[in-house]
Amino acid sequence: MKKTSLESWLFRKMDYEGTPEGAKKYIEAYQLEKLRETIQLAQQNSIFYRKHLSKVSLKSMDSFEDFQSIPFTTAGDLQENPLNFLCVSQDEIQRIVTLNTSGTSGASKRIYFTQNDQKLIVDFFAVGMSNLVKGGDRVLILLPGQQPGSVGDLLKKALEGIHVKAYIYGFVDDPERIFTLIEEKKINCLVGLPVQVLMLARCRNKLSTMRKCLLTADYVPEVTKKVLQENWRCKVFTHYGMTEMGLGGGVECEALDGYHLREADLYFEVIDPYTGKVVADGEWGEVVFTTLTREGMPLIRYRTGDIARFIQEPCPCGSILKRLDKVMGRWDDLVEIQDGRFLDIGQLDEVIFGFDEVLDYDVFVDNDNEDMIELHIHIKTKTDHFDVLQRDVKEALRKIPVIQKGITSNKMKFPSISKRDTYMKDGRAKRKIKQHTKEGLSI
Ligand SMILES: [Zn+2]
Repeated sequence: MKKTSLESWLFRKMDYEGTPEGAKKYIEAYQLEKLRETIQLAQQNSIFYRKHLSKVSLKSMDSFEDFQSIPFTTAGDLQENPLNFLCVSQDEIQRIVTLNTSGTSGASKRIYFTQNDQKLIVDFFAVGMSNLVKGGDRVLILLPGQQPGSVGDLLKKALEGIHVKAYIYGFVDDPERIFTLIEEKKINCLVGLPVQVLMLARCRNKLSTMRKCLLTADYVPEVTKKVLQENWRCKVFTHYGMTEMGLGGGVECEALDGYHLREADLYFEVIDPYTGKVVADGEWGEVVFTTLTREGMPLIRYRTGDIARFIQEPCPCGSILKRLDKVMGRWDDLVEIQDGRFLDIGQLDEVIFGFDEVLDYDVFVDNDNEDMIELHIHIKTKTDHFDVLQRDVKEALRKIPVIQKGITSNKMKFPSISKRDTYMKDGRAKRKIKQHTKEGLSI
């Protein structure tokens, strides 16, 4: 088994020439030094951090434990005034990404990148993709890439840098056009959103050229991997990242068992979301990261809302790099059904996508009546016998323990299931249970 390409990359970035076994201490020293540099950069140049970190002194920042006393940065902080985060003049910003956020306030998060920040993204994409492709391979990118600096554009640049041919398509809207392109260009690797790639595999269950898939930007239902492996005989890698991290965060190696992290550019922590304390390695909690090399808009102890844990066991690929377990969903996307029992889209995905006839679905929760929760599920399907599918999905959903409990204790109605004719093309990377509230729909 090939060792993750991230290990030699990290050693190169740190100018480390010793043995892998001796590297752990070196990585810690490198990251601590970079944390200190980032704090200094932010305190000196960012209006937000000058105030936010006013009580933080570099003189007492000698260990990761010291670092844990620094206040978190939240999505709310970013929404309030993204420009206050800048550490360079606006002239030096090459790319701005606007992220629509949930809630009815209308405020958006904006993330700013300089030219150097973008180079680091391309650098990471190249090394991350080296885990699954090599010179001469042909990749189809099912992510937006028309604009310079967009995720698809940077990924294409990265792939071309390692002599891999890349074609950008964008989000999936027309499966047949994609299949034609795959055949014409002899594509052997796809990069896309889990649910969209699953939909393709259900529309066409044989693709003779396809060898690898990289699923990114959202929760990956287990059934997605299974269907891709069975239908296309494909090896399925997953990537973890978000725009705030500089798009890339970590990627699986050939062991396909957790993300090796982008440790040269990011420092990760897992915290208890209630107390804010760092949890012991191996325990589940909220992922928090700090940028180590970002110059335009460094983020310090940024709370991602994602739920995951560090894997303690060494990786079968033999790397000494840390691994993050599969992200189980988002802390703030949980819908409380009853007394601390929660439902999230991951639980629904595992059940609903288990049906071969389902191509895609979306889900709304109606809790205008606070005593009674109702789920509305709209399914895009290829079956002519929707009534049968509807009945079977309903039955399967009732077996999810939190739904079963909600229904028997009269907190929840039976989920309503209807058919939808169009594909979901709204381009949101992260799917969630959407809320119907008195103020209207919040997504
Ligand atoms: Zn590995």
